[in-house]
This record gives sequence, structure tokens and C-alpha cells, in this order.
Amino acid sequence: MNAVIAADYSTPAAGEVAQIAPGLLWLRMPLPFELDHINLYLIEDDDGWVVVDCGLFSSATIEVWSGVIERHLGDKPVKQVVVTHAHVDHIGAAGWLCDRFDVPLCMTAREYDLVQEFLAELMEPSGDSQVARVEFFHRLGMNSKQITSLMAIYGGFADLFSALPKEIKRLEDGDYLSIGAHRWQVILSEGHSIAHASLYSRSLGILISGDQVLPRISSNVSVGPHDPDGNPLRSWLCSLNRLKTLPADTLVLPAHNFPFIGIRKRLDELIEGHEQDLKKIEQICSEPMHIMQQVERLYDRKLSIFDLLLASGECLAHVHYLMQKGCISRSLDNAGRYCYQIITADQDRR
Ligand SMILES: [Zn+2]
Repeated sequence: MNAVIAADYSTPAAGEVAQIAPGLLWLRMPLPFELDHINLYLIEDDDGWVVVDCGLFSSATIEVWSGVIERHLGDKPVKQVVVTHAHVDHIGAAGWLCDRFDVPLCMTAREYDLVQEFLAELMEPSGDSQVARVEFFHRLGMNSKQITSLMAIYGGFADLFSALPKEIKRLEDGDYLSIGAHRWQVILSEGHSIAHASLYSRSLGILISGDQVLPRISSNVSVGPHDPDGNPLRSWLCSLNRLKTLPADTLVLPAHNFPFIGIRKRLDELIEGHEQDLKKIEQICSEPMHIMQQVERLYDRKLSIFDLLLASGECLAHVHYLMQKGCISRSLDNAGRYCYQIITADQDRR
């Protein structure tokens, strides 16, 4: 495992900047999580800088941004803010940046609509949305203590987002952003989030991949309460396969870990990782198992409550993939939990 070659750049210290190419900066923004950073990128245009991804909305992020704006942008302002997708570490500070420079936010409409809906729900939780969320976690097999902890985590999310602009400049698959001497093609992907935008410059041979391709960790692909019957793994695998058409020597600038070469090998590794998980789940489900029982067997370590959220959502994504192929059946047990059992192994992978 791990076929990528780290590109020849030293990782900047937390809150610092490194130059990838003239007019292309890498900002290592700290995060207060186990995953302790996100990589943000700045692309220079004639009349300002385009920011790609923003960090959380927190005093620590604002302090870093203020220093970067003062020390690294010359006399040019930020002219546009792009976010690859609406996860909080990418979009949290976007509203603040747009507001500070009075510039547009560019992102896909589906990501924007979903995050606005999510935030509205967090601000004014309705009985219905709370009940649906609790029921979703209960059906996975979580106990009431776990569910209470998860609901508290959701409650804490809202503070990490600055208010988003009322309108966005929409990004769509195949759009081009012309920035300085180069054109960046928008490549849409689904599965990790609903409509993730990566940016590819053929002339530079660079892909700003967001969370779509990461060199060390694999992006979470989860079924969540917002789409409890979804099959995001199918979309995710299609999106990974689609990126194989990019040149093998593309320099990938990911949102986590480090810049690397070896996109095709990495895509193969990621796909293979999901194939392995599907096989494990087929074996685990030789008798009826709810999701928490499967998670226990898939992970040989104790998971934090946040990791449990990711792991259970990802396990369910794999189960739904197999269900839609007709390989696994679902039933409701006496305690109101969904249990899954193998019908027939997926022949496509053999
Ligand atoms: Zn993400």
C-alpha cells in the first residue's frame, strides 16, 4: 500500500505558506481535530488572488488568514473564493472571506443548497428533522448514549460556519476558470459529498483535488440522515474511475496530507480498498447483522464518537451498494434496527 510519490515540496508549518509554482501558493491551515490541517491554495490573477477552500470559521483561522493577506498577497486583494465542497473545514470561513473582500463565492449549486438546508435545520431544529435523525441512528443499532452524543456534535457544528453569501457564482462540470495565464477545468465528482468540484489545469499539469483524491487517507463515503436510502459508493467509484483519464504525471494538490504524483495508482488503491471492504462485509453478513455489529467487526480499535459517525455511515454506504446489486437483503428486527444478510456474493468482482 501506498503507491504515490510525495512531490518535492517541504510541508509549510501550521498557518504558513509554500510556493508550488509562480503564482500558486499552498497554505497549511490548522484544524483542531485528529486530522490537524487542511491544505488551501491561492492562485494569482492579474488583479487579485483566487482562494480555493477556506478552513473553519474560528478565531485561529481568521488569525492565519489575516497574516497571509498581510504578508503573502503583495498588494493584491482576494478577488474570488472557490470552495470544492461544503464540508465545514472547506467552507467554514468562506462567508467571512467573501464579506471581507466583497467578492463572490464560487461553488456547485447542489453543495450550496444542501449546506444552506443543513444550517437552517441546525439554527432552527424542527421536531421532524430531529426525530428523523434519531431514528436513522437507532436503525443503525446505536444506543441512546451514542445517539445523544451525536446529536450534541451536530449542535456544535453551526458555530464553525460563517454566514454564507445569499447568492453564489455557480460552478458546473466542464466549466473553465481563467486565472492569470492558465485555465482551470471544473471536474465534478460525487460520493464524498453531493457535487464536489476539483480544478484541473492542463497547461500546468496540476489538479487541485479537494477531498476527491488524497494520498494517505481515504475520503469518507457515507450514507447520512439527509439521504438515508442513498448509494454514494456507486457514484464515488464512478468518479474515481473518471479521473483515471488524467495524465499519470499530474501533480495532485489535495486538501489533506501532501502534494503528490501518481494519481492513477492512487485511484486504483482507493478502488481496491473499497473492494476489500465490500468483501469483508459480505463475509460479516453471513448472518443478520445491524450496522453497529458490522462496524465492531470491521475495526479492531475503539472508535471515538465522531469516528463512529464516519465509520457507521461508510459501512452503510457499502451495504447499500451491495443491496442495490441484489447481494444483501434488509430486515427490521424487534428492536427497530435494520439487519442485513448476504443473499449472494457480488459476482462482478470475481
Ligand atoms: Zn470533505
